[in-house]
Amino acid sequence: MKSALAPGSTIGIVGGGQLGRMLAIAAARLGFRCHIFDPHRRPCAAEVSAQFTSAAFTDEAALSAFGQACDVVTYEFENLPVAALEVLGDKLRPGTRSLEVAQDRAVEKRFIEATGARIAPWRTIDGVADIVAALTALGAPILLKTRRLGYDGKGQAWVHVADDAAAAWEAIGRQPSVAEAGVAFDAEFSVILARTATGDTRTFPISRNEHDGGILRRSSAPAGAPIDGLASEAITRAEAIARALDHVGVITVEFFACGEGPVANEIAPRVHNSGHWTIEGAATSQFEQHLRAICSLPLGDTALVTSMASMDNLIGADVERWAELIAEPGARVHLYGKGEARPGRKMGHVTRLG
Ligand code: AMP
Repeated sequence: MKSALAPGSTIGIVGGGQLGRMLAIAAARLGFRCHIFDPHRRPCAAEVSAQFTSAAFTDEAALSAFGQACDVVTYEFENLPVAALEVLGDKLRPGTRSLEVAQDRAVEKRFIEATGARIAPWRTIDGVADIVAALTALGAPILLKTRRLGYDGKGQAWVHVADDAAAAWEAIGRQPSVAEAGVAFDAEFSVILARTATGDTRTFPISRNEHDGGILRRSSAPAGAPIDGLASEAITRAEAIARALDHVGVITVEFFACGEGPVANEIAPRVHNSGHWTIEGAATSQFEQHLRAICSLPLGDTALVTSMASMDNLIGADVERWAELIAEPGARVHLYGKGEARPGRKMGHVTRLG
């Protein structure tokens, strides 16, 4: 696909969660139609989209028919079967390379290191003996993370002493994993940028991220000290990662701010929770920017439209405060329509501009 896609075209989105929903809302604003592909019966993105295919992500026949019904196809999360998505050919943006790298933490770490970015010292783990050896090699504490399918702190366990190794291995389900040295960071932040098929890139103002129990609680921009001092190196590293993946669309690189410089933690080959503030806080939202990139439209201005923006996630029962939040002057409330507010489930977010 070389020429720009005009409004009226159909954008396919593999995955029907809240990121797909916010992409579809941004697409509708620009006059595009969306078609969601998701195995669930009523995913929250399908409720705001023109078309919906309910099928397994491994169903190549359904994916192929879906691809034929769309002008371009993108994805909103990375735990997808790469082989099945190959049937979408070059309609898929970003391509499968970004998925392959981001969905396996060991592959991802080798890849990030090869682009020149700093990462925490790490080891691959295939059993208790590896954990004990990693503890000696990396120094305590270490954080075990499953290579695949971890998110929001799931599939992770800290190990402080060798006696904890067996319990930690059980806790992560005895799966192939990585162990990382614990990073004593000053702050966390993410670089969110968009890249077009012709290699143009635009980066959003960096946001400061605050996590609790592995789940993002709050993002705010501008990031302030000490993150601002690391911004230019982090942006250079994130751009190199996007280029090496030949990524088309939005990509996010999460970093730890450390005394020695930015330490890359992970890549999300997509729009990101830490960029939700851009809906109201930036001249172009991350969702619109992703659509612009995959539709070969010019990238939009990413500047803050206010002096500061902050976004708080509504996790689990937090969403029960919706009436109070909607009544708060200036609070921009987003509810994802996800039904049951299970603990740890992202149900919505609220953005405040300063
Ligand atoms: P992740 O799933 O890799 O994004 O990790 C979730 C969160 O756990 C991060 O945002 C950090 O707050 C924390 N974390 C992850 N890796 C490390 C590490 N090596 N050292 C210290 N904290 C970490």
